[in-house]
Amino acid sequence: MNPIFSIIAPIFNEYDNLPELYRRVGQVMDSTGEPWELVLVDDGSRDRSTERILELARQDQRVRPVIFARNFGHQIAVTAGLDYARGQAVTIIDADLQDPPEVILDLIARWREGYEVVYATRSEREGETWFKLFTAKLFYKLIYRITDVSIPEDTGDFRLLDRKVVDVIKQMRERHRFLRGMSVWVGFRQTGVTYKRAARFAGETKYPLKKMLKFAGDAITGFSYFPLQLATYLGFIAAGLSIVAIPLVIILRLANTLHALTGQATTLIAVLFLGGVQLISLGILGEYIGRIYDEVKGRPLYIVRQAPQD
Ligand code: UDP
Ligand code: MG
Repeated sequence: MNPIFSIIAPIFNEYDNLPELYRRVGQVMDSTGEPWELVLVDDGSRDRSTERILELARQDQRVRPVIFARNFGHQIAVTAGLDYARGQAVTIIDADLQDPPEVILDLIARWREGYEVVYATRSEREGETWFKLFTAKLFYKLIYRITDVSIPEDTGDFRLLDRKVVDVIKQMRERHRFLRGMSVWVGFRQTGVTYKRAARFAGETKYPLKKMLKFAGDAITGFSYFPLQLATYLGFIAAGLSIVAIPLVIILRLANTLHALTGQATTLIAVLFLGGVQLISLGILGEYIGRIYDEVKGRPLYIVRQAPQD
């Protein structure tokens, strides 16, 4: 029989967090009195997390292990979790216990009221560096401004999705994924609850700056053409400037009042400026084309070394 609730946790080198995650999720879910499962997706861990996940699965049938062949990234790991989850209400949670499992009960309460997407918004964040807080803030502001979907600020992947929503998202096989955008894009009845984001239970962040930038890139390109339009705007601004500037310079030259705007330096600056703008625009084009190329190849999103038996 399928469980009512599925909890999905992506795991990348979370050896020290796994027992506590299992214990706290178990405690919370048992209190609902309904059947549940915990889908642990091992995203190519290099510590002994894999063994620990399989060990938990041996002890408890409700733990479903999905073991990746290599590291595919957080968003892909969550996607695999959605593919393997069987519950009527599916909750995505971080394995480091920054999202307190106790909040799942609040999410479930709203789901029972009839909401199909219940996201958890951070009212406070503990144990994060100012750099992480600052970049995260900037990221959410930017995303909110330039994308077509209104993604709630300060909201991560910690959320509950109804089976209907999961089935829709499962059909969206895009490679560069921004799940929090996708789960808004689908529509349905959405609501949020607030919670205090805790510090990591053990270990350190698996999101170094490089991964954060890639994530931001996927979020923006996945939901907005704004960067592409930026090139158009810049082009119009540069062309507009020259339309005003060219006659102005001619007139000033004829009036023989202008000596400052002569010589190599002016030319050099103009060439460097336009060269820079053009290269940046090309780079932006490249970002989109690279992603198109990835999609066109149509490779599977992830490769599983070991899937749950049932
Ligand atoms: N994670 C993953 N694959 C990765 C990086 C992270 O599955 O390549 C998992 C990680 O184990 C954790 C979740 O994604 O469960 C969130 O990562 P983390 O806590 O490092 O991110 P932060 O909270 O610092 O943004
Ligand atoms: Mg974390």
